[in-house]
Amino acid sequence: MNLHNIRLENFRNYGAAAVEFDPGVNLILGDNAQGKTNLLEAIAFLGSGKAFRAQKAAELIKIGADFAQIEGDMFSQQREQSLKWVLFSGQRPRQIYRNGVKKRTSADISGVLNTILFCPEDLMVLKGGGAGRRRLADTAICQLRPNYEAALSEYNRILEQKNKILKDRHENPALLEILPEFNARLCQVGALIISYRARFFEGLGREAKKYHQLFSGGKEEFSLTYKTVSTISDNFAPVSELENCLREHLESHYRAELESSSCLTGPHKDDFDVHLSEMSLKSFGSQGQVRTAAISLKLAQRDLMEKESGETPLLLLDDVLSELDPGRQDFVLNHITHGQVFITCCESDRFTKLGKTIEIEKGTVK
Ligand code: ATP
Ligand code: MG
Repeated sequence: MNLHNIRLENFRNYGAAAVEFDPGVNLILGDNAQGKTNLLEAIAFLGSGKAFRAQKAAELIKIGADFAQIEGDMFSQQREQSLKWVLFSGQRPRQIYRNGVKKRTSADISGVLNTILFCPEDLMVLKGGGAGRRRLADTAICQLRPNYEAALSEYNRILEQKNKILKDRHENPALLEILPEFNARLCQVGALIISYRARFFEGLGREAKKYHQLFSGGKEEFSLTYKTVSTISDNFAPVSELENCLREHLESHYRAELESSSCLTGPHKDDFDVHLSEMSLKSFGSQGQVRTAAISLKLAQRDLMEKESGETPLLLLDDVLSELDPGRQDFVLNHITHGQVFITCCESDRFTKLGKTIEIEKGTVK
């Protein structure tokens, strides 16, 4: 897919702006607070109706204005298409148009313009606790496999109910009688989730390893390991076997679960580890290494989506160049030859050989 242009009216700090994009690399330059990230946010919003920095859509409307409009033309699904959103302050519902025809929900435009975003917060995810990494993986798998989302929400619902039983049983011991029912369901759905995740991480690790190799000039060996419930020795075993392993773990932790009043078995504790040349990225990675690995993972995620849908999502790289040495900056600017890429940057002397430079100043395109 390819975004030809975008037109903004009262979006964030933009009054009225129109930008033409290159089908390759678009380097968005400007000082701090000029509207570079806002432009990426507009692109992501155009395709999904989700704003990665806003809690409420109203935040996207320029302060003082009563509506915002975001529209763009793109080539995707083998034809020329257009999307338009109109947001209103107050109660009036937002409007979505696809090829000039009014649509009801964002699901009606799904697949027209897919984006993958790298933002500096992704670095915290690689360095921080497991919950952030699970969220990152779950979001990616949901984009790839529609059935995964349903399994995941069912799992979370069972987990919540089971935790409630474990907590409330002190006041109501009869609750323990229904625990086996929840355990059985937890193992069933949990095994399915592990099976999805195992396949996803295998593909992601394989692709990211290739990118990281190029990115680091062959200096670092990237590897990704999926860590799940300890009784599972083969993540790729049939779902029924994974279910047996989960049950085994659960039975051996029965007492511990009662003592801690929390659920100790299942993929809600999963994590993944990245190692660079045998060193844990989480514990020992330098800032540049974490950044490189994070970008390699995004490129890998884009490849997986492309394999699945036949369309290459747009890659949005926010503030990606800082902390990278000249070789790694050169990789980002001049060696991502595939698909359409948008890179924001504050250093005015950067350039790309693969596309165009767009200069932003106070919410206008120079
Ligand atoms: P940096 O290099 O620091 O990341 P940036 O160019 O990415 O800067 P943006 O995050 O795009 O900057 O924000 C530009 C400006 O937009 C900010 O000063 C912010 O206050 C302003 N802004 C955000 N939302 C709105 C809004 N709804 N109305 C008006 N201005 C807004
Ligand atoms: Mg920014």
